Amino acid sequence: MALTSDQYQSIMLTYAEKQDRHRRELERRRAGVYAAIPEYRALEESVPAKSLSYLTASLEAGADADGFDPAGAEASLKKEFEAAAQKKKDLLVSHGYPENYLEPLYDCPVCRDTGFTDGHKCRCFIRQEVSLLYSQSHVCELARTENFSVLSEKWYKGVDLQRFHKAAEASRLFVREFDTHSRSLYFYGTVGTGKSFLSVCIAHDLIESGHSVLYFSAISLFEKISSYSFDYKARESLAGLYEDLYGCDLLIIDDLGTETTNTFVTSQLFACINERHLRGRSTLISTNLSLAELQARYSDRVFSRITSDYSIFQFTGNDIRLQKKLLAKQAAPPD
Ligand SMILES: [Zn+2]
Repeated sequence: MALTSDQYQSIMLTYAEKQDRHRRELERRRAGVYAAIPEYRALEESVPAKSLSYLTASLEAGADADGFDPAGAEASLKKEFEAAAQKKKDLLVSHGYPENYLEPLYDCPVCRDTGFTDGHKCRCFIRQEVSLLYSQSHVCELARTENFSVLSEKWYKGVDLQRFHKAAEASRLFVREFDTHSRSLYFYGTVGTGKSFLSVCIAHDLIESGHSVLYFSAISLFEKISSYSFDYKARESLAGLYEDLYGCDLLIIDDLGTETTNTFVTSQLFACINERHLRGRSTLISTNLSLAELQARYSDRVFSRITSDYSIFQFTGNDIRLQKKLLAKQAAPPD
């Protein structure tokens, strides 16, 4: 989806505020250091003077080219700068400051709090955009009752328990190592065996830790893409949607296979998982489809991407929602 100009401005304003906050903090630090180490200040102020003398010498040499060696002067100036920088670091350290105490500060070192890197939106920009554009209220609502703190294995027995336990452990690891290991997960199995529950647990923890998470049911995802694709007026919205789908930290596609699958859906699904893979972004797919059904329903390329790049977990057992309902019925007083 595309941001309105007001929304865009409001995000850019957060960057201006960050830069401002860091600039003020740096000024505060610098004033403290100047007061504590006068020599530091003298050193810092001597640098512009040296540059000026170099510049003057260069200009004068314009008139009398024989008397000036620009390369030599530049090299010696560089040396002096390096020595001064080292001296400043030493001074800071000897007075109990960290050596990087006066270096620029950033919330996001990747884009240096500008929101953009290499001409693309930075992840920190997309994080703000996603929370602005896609209401995560559904996931947040679910996460209130479904999160790792209430995870229980009491509904499973035997091999079902082993499978759930393995998937739950992998989900915890997925969250823990999210920033250092890009992984994708494929949860498949029968209805009511905990796939969506674990997806919500993961979404909850990653949203809490400031990541951009897009959570779509397969039906709503493909509906959204097709409604923009077939409306020529929505070209910008479609481009924005792709950027978010491909760029968000985690994309969750819930209940894959419940949508009406056709060649359009299949090609969109491939584009999505392939592009995210190329960008090193994690994706989580949950589905009732077995691997054989996945292969039959979508293209071979979708099947091979998923089976080669995703960690695959099977869920089995009785429908937990049904078990809970039965239990509640038994506990209720007779009519
Ligand atoms: Zn950034």
